[in-house]
Amino acid sequence: MVVGGRGDAYLGGGRFTCDVSGTDVTRLGPMEAVDIRGRGIDYRITNVGPVPGSEAFLLTSDEGAVLYDSGYGFCGPALVGNIRRVLGGRKLDSVLITHSHYDHILGSAHCIREWPDAEVVASRHTSEVIAKDSARRTMRGMDASAAKLHGVAGYEDLTDSLRVDRIVSEGDRVEAGGFGFVVHEYPGHTLCSIGFHCPEERFLLSCETLGLYVGKGAMSPTYLVGYGMTLDSIDRAMGLDVDVMLLPHAGVAAGRCRDLLESSRRAAVSWAEEIMEADRRGEGIEGILGMMKRNHYTGYVRGIQPEAAFDLNARYMIPMIIRELGQSRFRMARH
Ligand SMILES: [Zn+2]
Repeated sequence: MVVGGRGDAYLGGGRFTCDVSGTDVTRLGPMEAVDIRGRGIDYRITNVGPVPGSEAFLLTSDEGAVLYDSGYGFCGPALVGNIRRVLGGRKLDSVLITHSHYDHILGSAHCIREWPDAEVVASRHTSEVIAKDSARRTMRGMDASAAKLHGVAGYEDLTDSLRVDRIVSEGDRVEAGGFGFVVHEYPGHTLCSIGFHCPEERFLLSCETLGLYVGKGAMSPTYLVGYGMTLDSIDRAMGLDVDVMLLPHAGVAAGRCRDLLESSRRAAVSWAEEIMEADRRGEGIEGILGMMKRNHYTGYVRGIQPEAAFDLNARYMIPMIIRELGQSRFRMARH
């Protein structure tokens, strides 16, 4: 398999090709792309998200165009502009949503206004979340905070026009953009998280349950709702044939993707062990948070994740781990 890329920040502004024998991760900044000569089709993956944090990846082939996640709501008009720039006069066929968090789904409302025939695909749980007034209110509030952080005011909010056209569950097949994807449910980050795997292309559209890429071949866990279910999700993903993996918020991994998933699993287990040891020492949530930050919020991670986001995730994660593993210690031994 050959992967070619182009871009400015990471790839020196030129095109490159490389034979991939290890795992090669290409981070994609706004409007950076990689070209992939696949087993059956050639395709391009472009990060059409306008700002960091609002990543959205457009898959284009001769057969069509698919958007994978859609970023912040306040970035919607810029997202649509970026997609239009890539597609020219072609239309967007599908929007695949990995989970219902505002930074993954809100941009889709702008896309379906521009391309009303585009099919939005998500899990049943995601469709139930967006139907709730309270959930939409939370999303709108978080989007407003992100907009403020980016110095954006007076944007159009389309949260109330979010929709899911096709509800999918484990094993469903989704034909989109020339790919035949099989849906896999990967609960752990949220209950609604799903991934899409194209067996013919050995191509996996990952989701945050399978880990957040934090640079230098390392993954961080993002389990917010369940520890055991996260390990189970990663284990099932490791059972798939994967040569190319699209990593949320990051870019494209090619080569030995199983290694990345294995390192994600190891990180998930060791973070849980750290939390449980600190809990046994009697440190409270704040003490454990401080320790996690000293151990894991360093160097590269600081550059890609705001401290507030790390804190927010950790405040969900720490009590979840203590609740789940504190009740039955034998589970720690089992993993
Ligand atoms: Zn999320």
